[in-house]
Amino acid sequence: TKGLELRFNLPTHFLSREKPVLHALSGVDLRIEKGETFCVVGESGCGKTTLGRAIMGLLTPSAGEIYFEGRRIDTMGEEARKPIRADMQMVFQNPYASLNPRRTVFQTLAEPIRHLMPEKSEADVRSQVENVLDATGCDQSWQRKLPHEFSGGQRQRIAIARALVTNPAFIVADEPISALDVSIQAQILNLLNDLQDERGLTYMFITHDLSVVEHFGDRVAVMYLGQVMELAEVGAIFAEPKHPYTQLLLDAIPRLEGGSFDAPREPGELPDPVNPPPGCPFAPRCPIAQDICRAERPRLRPVGDRGTMAACHLAE
Ligand code: SF4
Repeated sequence: TKGLELRFNLPTHFLSREKPVLHALSGVDLRIEKGETFCVVGESGCGKTTLGRAIMGLLTPSAGEIYFEGRRIDTMGEEARKPIRADMQMVFQNPYASLNPRRTVFQTLAEPIRHLMPEKSEADVRSQVENVLDATGCDQSWQRKLPHEFSGGQRQRIAIARALVTNPAFIVADEPISALDVSIQAQILNLLNDLQDERGLTYMFITHDLSVVEHFGDRVAVMYLGQVMELAEVGAIFAEPKHPYTQLLLDAIPRLEGGSFDAPREPGELPDPVNPPPGCPFAPRCPIAQDICRAERPRLRPVGDRGTMAACHLAE
């Protein structure tokens, strides 16, 4: 079956811009199943983007293992990985930055096919470009235009078309709507939803936005300082959040207004990633921390009867 299996002793960089720091995630195997939308959620700097990039091979983890359809991919060379790159694509947050301003839409869409599927003829390239433009609601006349001629929503459609042009099975979408006008966000989410139904796509959806998780996700991993704090079905995490950090995030959100996880935060409130505190990384902010929390790092473990896993000594 198509799907992505991730061994979760994968170290991840903290997204500290100055000095990325490696940190071992707790040794748990995570599987993303075919056809599901697996959300990764957390505040900025929690490591969710780094995780997505590590899976895509855009940065190399120094330990851990990543498997795609049963094959280990993190140790593959560039050539061996090409067919897998065609099968795994990424949609980035900012369609203004992710499209080359000097390339026409046709050039942008043809490039991944020519690079990753060199066996394709030019006629194949043209027909794949035409098909993906239709599938993503883009007009064929866009082929000859440059990115600056489009709105943000149109650019994100083009970026989605680029991700789909090699007919991938798996898409990492990193905050694909957060740079867009609110009025456009639902359109792009609906497009991603329709494409998933039509093509049986598997999504890893990286977001800070809880309302997106609630409406769009099947399962969710809540990350904090490079670690998975809670892993659960989306329904379970909203009905019965098990980790104090998840509870804090849920409480902080003005739900009716569609809030986000990026609650205002004092500078310096996050622990120094170079010298993380021993024990639970959330202890400095946790309202119910005990002595054991500062002494011993909690492992991700099953909590409750809904299949939820939480990394907390006190979660019941
Ligand atoms: Fe809070 Fe302790 Fe649980 Fe960490 S392990 S989240 S500090 S209760």
